[in-house]
Amino acid sequence: MERVIFLVDMNAFFIGCETVRDPSLKGIPAAVAGDPKNRSGIILAANYEARSFGVRTTMTIYEALRLCPGLRLVPPDHEYYEQVSNKIMKVLSSYTPVMEQNSIDEAWLDMTGCEPLFGKPLEAARRIMDDLYGNYGLMCSIGISENKFLAKMASEMKKPMGITELWKIDIPHKLWPMPVDKMYGIGRQTTVKLNGLGIETIGQLAHFSESLLVERFGKYGLEMHRLANGIDDSPVRPHGETEIKSISRSTTLSEDITDIEYAKRVLLSLADEVGMAARRHDKKGNTVHITLKYSDFKTITRQMKVAPTCLTRDIYEAGRRLLEANWDKRLPVRLLGIGLSGFEAGAQISIFEDLAGYRDDREEILERTADKIRHKHGRSVLKPASLLQKNDIKQ
Ligand SMILES: [Mg+2]
Repeated sequence: MERVIFLVDMNAFFIGCETVRDPSLKGIPAAVAGDPKNRSGIILAANYEARSFGVRTTMTIYEALRLCPGLRLVPPDHEYYEQVSNKIMKVLSSYTPVMEQNSIDEAWLDMTGCEPLFGKPLEAARRIMDDLYGNYGLMCSIGISENKFLAKMASEMKKPMGITELWKIDIPHKLWPMPVDKMYGIGRQTTVKLNGLGIETIGQLAHFSESLLVERFGKYGLEMHRLANGIDDSPVRPHGETEIKSISRSTTLSEDITDIEYAKRVLLSLADEVGMAARRHDKKGNTVHITLKYSDFKTITRQMKVAPTCLTRDIYEAGRRLLEANWDKRLPVRLLGIGLSGFEAGAQISIFEDLAGYRDDREEILERTADKIRHKHGRSVLKPASLLQKNDIKQ
């Protein structure tokens, strides 16, 4: 079944919230601004009346008042916006349980299969918009497509109170003419680099050589190219469901062991499973722990901090050091485990991160490629033996 994904984005959210509790702001130019008394403070959100005077977010108050002398300024109240946001998210999740909040004022909804309940996508979107405006006095824009990226792009196309469909067939005339800096996930620095390659529009990016992009940007080059072509398989992930706290693997040995070299080989194989799982879930952890259960059933756990990683090599390396520091050949070991934890909140390796922040992840590309091969041909095809040899030589 083709997916139906909505991105619901609240329009001018902060000032919208303020207008709900102070209706006198309605219909006049108004903005939420950090410290309105200080003219060097900045505009955090301007309503559409203010925007028609040219008032924009991040502009200084001084500049905004020059453009629009009658501008009403309201100090921010983030706690209140948070409360309104929670209420809105609750409303949205009543339309589908598969909802992923993307920021304080927007969320993706997976509306696949909801037609019998709410009608065609356009009707369902209209219903959601009416619900939010009629019952809560808040305006929104809704993008409709078959994936998250296109839905997000669509939601930006008509504001305020716009509903935009952006299906695959619409890509050439709706998406491709847009300047590349309007593409979701592309930041200023990346734009400069893309412009340097002669890429000005999303269409030019879509038609640019994939291999050159990979050469220049690593795996993000590939992601950008896919997105520009409207390809995005990432699922709408309801929060909570994906909150993985740690990934660990352990094994009971066929016999109690005292040989550390053997223990290292086992550890490597377990570290590889942990790394594969971390990469599959796009999780990077900053803590590696090992578990040792001795033949007398006494169990110890030891852990150490590492730079956030999802690489088998890093996980194994930390595990090996812990193992060496805690190995006692007088104590036979019957169970060995290794795990990765300390996943930063929101530190998923998102394709939607500002791509400017990319780093040269050759090692990661290598391990991910190996994952794919193993996924296709079975795990035994590629064993990370080279890692073990490398470490063996080092000792
Ligand atoms: Mg938004």
